[in-house]
Amino acid sequence: DTYLNGNYSFDNFIEGDCNRLARSAGFAVAQRPGLTSFNPLMVYGGVGLGKTHLVQAIGNYIRNHYDDKMVTYVSSEKFTNQFINSIKNNKLSDFTDFYMKVDVLVIDDVQFLSGKEKTQDTFFHIFNHLHQLGKQIIMTSDRPPRELQGLQDRLLSRFKWGLTADLQTPDFETRIAIIQKKLQSEGINIEYDVIEYVAHSVNTNVRELEGVIISLMAQASLTRREIDVELAKNTLKNIVMDEEKEVTIDTIQEIVADYFEINIANLKSKSRKKEDVYPRQLAMYLAKDYTDLPLKSIGYHFGGRDHSTVIHSIQSINDLMTSDPDVEETVQKLRSYFK
Ligand code: ADP
Ligand code: MG
Repeated sequence: DTYLNGNYSFDNFIEGDCNRLARSAGFAVAQRPGLTSFNPLMVYGGVGLGKTHLVQAIGNYIRNHYDDKMVTYVSSEKFTNQFINSIKNNKLSDFTDFYMKVDVLVIDDVQFLSGKEKTQDTFFHIFNHLHQLGKQIIMTSDRPPRELQGLQDRLLSRFKWGLTADLQTPDFETRIAIIQKKLQSEGINIEYDVIEYVAHSVNTNVRELEGVIISLMAQASLTRREIDVELAKNTLKNIVMDEEKEVTIDTIQEIVADYFEINIANLKSKSRKKEDVYPRQLAMYLAKDYTDLPLKSIGYHFGGRDHSTVIHSIQSINDLMTSDPDVEETVQKLRSYFK
């Protein structure tokens, strides 16, 4: 993992609200390494959200567009091991010389340097040297710099010299786009229903999303079946979803908000707009059904409404379901995400 992996590019990094700032800062850095104010560029975010992909894409872009720039990618773990070995073998100066000569240093998962004082000392010197020469430094971390415990203050303060941008959990549209891109690259065509189902059901991170798609393809070829919603349900049951898993009010709000493409905040707001009221009533209806919470507590989770509002909501959904087949269908569809 000292090298760049050419498979990671900007082209196959799907852009969405969840990553827009980090992606565009990354692209700016890729085009003008060392010349923007984004130096260092620090990208942080939870596991599987695309940190490695994005910083590798920057490295690859620079390598493909500049003949004269030496780009080095290294994980912090590898960097630490190389450092330790160089001391053991009396080759510390080879180690530092190597890193001080690069034009672009990408160092992944710096949280791993936590508590490793000697490695941090050396990294500090390399950082200063490179930065002074206007060389580009790109880092990732699983949390924001202020939460990086066990890292020296002098390093942390330097991390903030440039730009810090986060990667968030992909929103529904981005998940759809990621699934479509992935299937397209595998040359597979499936119904939109299935894509939508998977996007609704897997809302943790991109790695997990990719894992589900791979299992789905494997499952389809093993059983010689079409990839349909039924197969997706079975596959998901076996991998991500714990069948016994309790449905919580948070999950319900998340799924309903996703489904209607509104913010969870709208479910909890005082808004009386139709496009908020209907999803809110539906979410209350489902909350009554799936959780053991008393009505009062359900009301509390929807912006502090009283129990009579909850009763009224449940009643109106019941009425709508008998009078409007679309509502009935929506409820069925939402229910399918909980099983
Ligand atoms: P991290 O380093 O944050 O743990 P990775 O960069 O390893 O995450 O990403 C996990 C997987 O998800 C990789 O296969 C990566 O290509 C993919 N991925 C992450 N974000 C995106 C995105 N925005 N578009 C396409 N693929 C993505
Ligand atoms: Mg990574």
